[in-house]
Amino acid sequence: MIPYGRQDITEADIDAVVAVLRSDFLTQGPQVPRFEQQVARHVGAKHAVAVNSATSALHLACLALGLGPGDWLWTSPITFVASANCALYCGAKIDFVDINPRTYNLCPQALERRLQQAEREGRLPKIVVPVHLCGQPCDMATIHALAQRYGFKIVEDASHAIGGKYQGEYIGSGRYSDITVFSFHPVKIVTTAEGGMALTNDDVLADRMALLRSHGITRDPARMTHDAGGPWYYQQIALGFNYRMTELQAALGTSQMARLDDYVARRHQLARRYDELLAGLPVTTPWQHPDGYSGLHLYIIRLQLDCIGRNHRQIFEALREQGIGVNLHYIPVHTQPYYQAMGFQAGDFPEAERYYAEAISLPLYPRMTDAQLEQVVTALAHVLRPAQ
Ligand SMILES: *Cc1c(COP(=O)(O)O)cnc(C)c1O
Repeated sequence: MIPYGRQDITEADIDAVVAVLRSDFLTQGPQVPRFEQQVARHVGAKHAVAVNSATSALHLACLALGLGPGDWLWTSPITFVASANCALYCGAKIDFVDINPRTYNLCPQALERRLQQAEREGRLPKIVVPVHLCGQPCDMATIHALAQRYGFKIVEDASHAIGGKYQGEYIGSGRYSDITVFSFHPVKIVTTAEGGMALTNDDVLADRMALLRSHGITRDPARMTHDAGGPWYYQQIALGFNYRMTELQAALGTSQMARLDDYVARRHQLARRYDELLAGLPVTTPWQHPDGYSGLHLYIIRLQLDCIGRNHRQIFEALREQGIGVNLHYIPVHTQPYYQAMGFQAGDFPEAERYYAEAISLPLYPRMTDAQLEQVVTALAHVLRPAQ
């Protein structure tokens, strides 16, 4: 089976992890701050807070921005459930904004209409989470202008997008947002096995996230309510978690980061090849906005079902039978049973649902060979052939 995504682990990665195993610190040592500085410097952010997953980073981002009961968080329905669950962890309420049918990202025009309505009803969101689906940047300038006007904060879910650029600057620079979150899950662009990171240019937000990552405990006398009782002394000043990244993970991440730009460049090569080879088939290939340089975590096609004699599921199953590990990103979050129980219904976000009825993620990862890519295209052409 050609998988839809796969990590690339080199001997240098293995050596970096083994060196940590032989060192004094498996956690809370020098590797995590080193990895944080490296990523922050690469993307042009002031601060980075490494954690054990992007899910944890989203949770900390929401808490640092003060999200709580009575507040609203809005995101795209076409995302992994974690982009929405972070609101619920904080006791806040969740809503979605439908996608743009070309970019598959949260639609800024739909966002503006919803904001106008929410303003009249007195239920404006506190946080909006744009998700850079496949690594393609959202229309951040427009979303940021709306944030200025309606007073919400922006957390970019850039789990797919490290190494990508928006208007010539790396995603994570924070020009148009308060906090940006990366994921280092093995299918993502660079990996630490499990892991995530929150980036920000705001000293206070960075401090809060770092505090909450480790139980809400401080050893900094300046932050304590009264004098330290001795050199052993620490204080818990907030209710935090253990969301720390290990030294092993950070060393792997540092080693992987050296190849980030090459990984994204290879993903672009493969995607261009797909674009060429798929041109004659009844599928819609991904549209790339000229303002962005996608991280290209995923290559998603949409089936032109009215030109194909078989349905979405039949095409999907036929590809799997031919050894092509296709996938589907994502089931619209509002259609999940947990969200339906909160009152969301099929039909609430029609563009997202139309997308879901046609989308298939084709294999794409840096070590994928040109021959493997051709094998995927041949299999696809075969299953899409007109019925005799
Ligand atoms: C993978 C992913 C997450 C969660 O990342 P973890 O590191 O696995 O917690 C969140 N949002 C999106 C869009 C993702 O793709």
